[in-house]
Amino acid sequence: AQQILLDSRPEGLPTHDNFKLSSLLLPEVQEGEFLVKNLWMSVDPYMRGRMIDRKSYIAPFSIGEVLEGGAIGEVIESRNSDFPVGVKVTSMLGWRSHYVTDGSDHTKLPETPLSESHFLGVLGMPGMTAWAGLNRIAELKEGETLFVSAASGAVGSVACQLGKLMGAKVIASVGSDEKAVNLKSLGVDAVINYKTAENLSAALKEAAPQGVDVYFENVGGEHLSAALDNMNDHGRIAVCGMISQYNDTAPTPGPSNLAMIIMKKLRMEGFIVFEHWAHYPEFAKAMGQWLATGAVKAEQTIYEGLASAPDAFIGLFEGKNRGKMVVKLT
Ligand code: NDP
Repeated sequence: AQQILLDSRPEGLPTHDNFKLSSLLLPEVQEGEFLVKNLWMSVDPYMRGRMIDRKSYIAPFSIGEVLEGGAIGEVIESRNSDFPVGVKVTSMLGWRSHYVTDGSDHTKLPETPLSESHFLGVLGMPGMTAWAGLNRIAELKEGETLFVSAASGAVGSVACQLGKLMGAKVIASVGSDEKAVNLKSLGVDAVINYKTAENLSAALKEAAPQGVDVYFENVGGEHLSAALDNMNDHGRIAVCGMISQYNDTAPTPGPSNLAMIIMKKLRMEGFIVFEHWAHYPEFAKAMGQWLATGAVKAEQTIYEGLASAPDAFIGLFEGKNRGKMVVKLT
């Protein structure tokens, strides 16, 4: 079997030197255990945080240890009657080709007409994040204006589409014209390319002259500042992520206009999707229907082979993905 270890902690943007591909001999499958061949693995921005040695909501990765992350695999040998050969499972044991397990923290995948990889994306953690942020944190209402940053990605593309289904006017920000064209084809009302916009705050004002009621924050920094400038009274900011800061090597200064929170009586609330997981069945049922009717389109960018996983991960910080970034392992 093959696996990818954290070889050193990144300084700034991760590089290939931070990762190491290694081979190992798997132990024999004992009574109660089964052997999984991973088919898909996820790379997600939060993994950058786990590469830093610090206390957080999830333990840091250790140097010299195999990395972890969402994965989908198939049971290819089994001495556990709950997980017979052929069953597909989700786990947090990504970044490796095969592994032996007793099945703890494994879930069997339901039957789906879609590619099972979507359980790492639109039907999984990122999709649930978009749904929870809009419904449970921001409480987006029909007729409101929603602004979404990193809008072409796994969370953002779902947030934009759900925003439209909830009857909002949706303004998005992305890092390329090609991503902007694609989001428009998904029904987004206006898209800003933050890389070519001269002044993000002015561009947002032009796209949303009526102001912004809900900001779905994925980026931080200048994006947060622009959103604060354009928020309407009693607006809500669902703080999901701040990807523009994950590779910073020095503390990032906060926006200079935070006082807008007072003047506009805003509510700004951070959230971690796992605290909302009790609502996953409700989300999955609705999302399954939206996907079946075409009301939501599932997008993904696929890298091939375990060895490409570091590239896929680094690519998240370079805007290489449209929709969910996944690695296909077979
Ligand atoms: P994405 O699929 O959106 O991938 C990252 C995207 O972010 C890139 O494609 C790129 O798109 C954009 N980006 C990268 N660097 C920058 C930058 N410096 N400035 C602006 N945009 C940038 O990732 P996810 O959808 O998985 O995650 C999106 C956000 O949600 C992240 O901040 C993540 O940490 C957060 N998150 C939070 C969760 C929670 O529970 N709170 C759960 C899951 C995700 P572009 O080309 O447009 O620049």
